[in-house]
Amino acid sequence: EALIRFDGVGMTYADGTVAVDHLDLDVAAHELLTLVGPSGSGKSTLLRMVNRLVEPTRGRVLLEGEDVARVDAARLRRGIGYVIQDVGLFPHRTVAQNVATVPGLLGWDRRRTRERVAELLTLVRLDPAVHGPRYPHELSGGQRQRVGVARALATHPKVMLMDEPFGAVDPEGRRSLQTEFRRIHDELGTTVVMVTHDIDEAVLLGDRVAVLSQGGRLEQLAPPAVVLSR
Ligand code: ADP
Ligand code: ADP
Repeated sequence: EALIRFDGVGMTYADGTVAVDHLDLDVAAHELLTLVGPSGSGKSTLLRMVNRLVEPTRGRVLLEGEDVARVDAARLRRGIGYVIQDVGLFPHRTVAQNVATVPGLLGWDRRRTRERVAELLTLVRLDPAVHGPRYPHELSGGQRQRVGVARALATHPKVMLMDEPFGAVDPEGRRSLQTEFRRIHDELGTTVVMVTHDIDEAVLLGDRVAVLSQGGRLEQLAPPAVVLSR
């Protein structure tokens, strides 16, 4: 039933920092799980175990029952969308080119790529004709994050990992991005694990909220209403 299973994972960095303590956590298929906690509580480390940017020092992460450590990393990452705070778009490529430049779309013919890119930009409420030809610096911060989301969705990933995806966006743009993203999630049913330090964002977006504390311990795992009423 769990799409992602953190099975007794722990991460102690080379300098002795315990980022994640012994932790068990299941993420259900189609769920949007938010990971919230103070800076340094191991949220990013935990997230990055899934796409193997971090190899845990104990335990294992299972994706659809398979230990990710045994899956070819490139193949693994093709099935996982990854969105970070400052999406890292190529500055000298247009928005459309940025979305088209993902491994999953390489080798597609031009017509099919164009259609897919237009579909993805529309999904995140950008206009392919208007925003497609622009360069990243010609967009607002919120629009750039939308492009990052579109790019991450390009290959129909089973899982989306998002690390403070809206963190650099002004409060107003942030609110509309949150609403949009919740809609996209409901529409596509992609399993999402989202890191945030903002408790309001965590309870607004999460089907369940995992609260981490210093030292990478899981304090609480509950639906938003329960977390709120604490
Ligand atoms: P969060 O995402 O909750 O802010 P992180 O997972 O980024 O937490 O970091 C958890 C802890 O691990 C912090 O104390 C951080 O300083 C430490 N840490 C993160 N990455 C490294 C690293 N590459 N080497 C050593 N310590 C690290
Ligand atoms: P090329 O260099 O092959 O003529 P571009 O560099 O203009 O193509 O664009 C790269 C990719 O992005 C192409 O696959 C193209 O189909 C797609 N693309 C370019 N502009 C748009 C747009 N406005 N809407 C959707 N897709 C676009």
